[in-house]
Amino acid sequence: IMTLDFNSTGDDNPLRIFVSAKKDINDLFNKAERFVKNVDQFYRSYDESMLDQNNLNFIDNSVEKIAGIRDVLARNNMKVAFFGRTSNGKSTVINAILQNKILPAGIGHTTNCFLQVEGTDETEPFIVLENQRHNIESVKHLANALNTESLGDSTLVKVYWPKSKCSILHDDVVLVDSPGTDVTANLDKWIDLYCLDADVFVLVSNAESTLMQTEKNFFIKVKEKLSKPNIFILNNRWDASAHELDSLDLVRKQHLKRDKDFLVNDMGVLDEQTAQNHVFFVSAIEVLRARLELEEGKQINTSNYAHGFESRFREFLDFEKKFEQCLSKSAVQTKFGQHTMEIIKMTDDFSRFLMAISAKTIDVRNEKRNQIKIMKDRMQQIKQQFHIFTNEVKLQICNLV
Ligand code: GDP
Repeated sequence: IMTLDFNSTGDDNPLRIFVSAKKDINDLFNKAERFVKNVDQFYRSYDESMLDQNNLNFIDNSVEKIAGIRDVLARNNMKVAFFGRTSNGKSTVINAILQNKILPAGIGHTTNCFLQVEGTDETEPFIVLENQRHNIESVKHLANALNTESLGDSTLVKVYWPKSKCSILHDDVVLVDSPGTDVTANLDKWIDLYCLDADVFVLVSNAESTLMQTEKNFFIKVKEKLSKPNIFILNNRWDASAHELDSLDLVRKQHLKRDKDFLVNDMGVLDEQTAQNHVFFVSAIEVLRARLELEEGKQINTSNYAHGFESRFREFLDFEKKFEQCLSKSAVQTKFGQHTMEIIKMTDDFSRFLMAISAKTIDVRNEKRNQIKIMKDRMQQIKQQFHIFTNEVKLQICNLV
């Protein structure tokens, strides 16, 4: 009997960096939006003869732009996409991470479309298929819904699962399951539709065979569109090799060498040293089973599992930790960095605008000039807060690794 940490992430949950940065940046954008609207009101209170069309356009554009960014930011999440050949265990890996049997997996079911699992604040799960909402009661329901519809391999089915039932979904992570890379010629379309905003890719390979060319080709295409994708390789079904004690080490070394070679030489996304931390040997089915037993309050009896279960389980936890760090870091950088730069530039434009109107306000009452001064100070404060936000996030990310 063994005691296991149920959760891979403890107090130092790296996903929280993204979650709290998202809250902060949204608050800052709301502040900036309120400020810009105040400026708008203020400027329009001038006598009509003083209003300049260019200035009005500038303010209108800024209001619109900030609202647009605010919308995007509020919807932002961390996205992980899983790829690999059919039956390598993609759905099982996702279920193991979710600590629940959410996606249909196994004999008689192959994922023949894209399935995106994300959290909902509602208490019951549901799916959205071609803009239509369907309630689902169980995995079986979901499997039926997926079977009865004639779904193309590029269709996206969104599965909304209660955040209250799953911590990783609570932390704004979205997981995407894909049809096997062996079943389609639509790779380009897939990448354009579902991969461009993915923060991390997980290649689920089968430890009983070698990395296939079809799997490699897919990622090579991804690299053409995203210059430096974050990729992890999971050699799944590692339990199936557990009884071959004599050759276990050798097989592992061979896989590791090929996987690293792929990441370092074919893809050119990692160096030799880091690549080591992107390759794992796991058994998703064991992790799922153990987590379900723990969820039921049972103790794990390791003798019911294949030899070496404990170390495979720990390796899965290690994978989760590393990929969550990478996910949070990448999402913060790509999803917030750009917008922060944009708003900082915008605050400079606003300062110039306020100076210009201040200069033209000579004849008007002093009161207005004072107001402009206050607004200028406020603008500087907002800019300052965005700088502080950027630096704080940078610091937190540095502490991750
Ligand atoms: P997908 O097509 O890649 O999504 O693969 P599934 O998740 O549906 O898994 C295919 C089959 O492999 C199912 O019968 C799973 O139970 C089984 N499977 C998944 N992961 C493992 C594993 O780690 N070890 C073993 N032995 N079987 C697994």
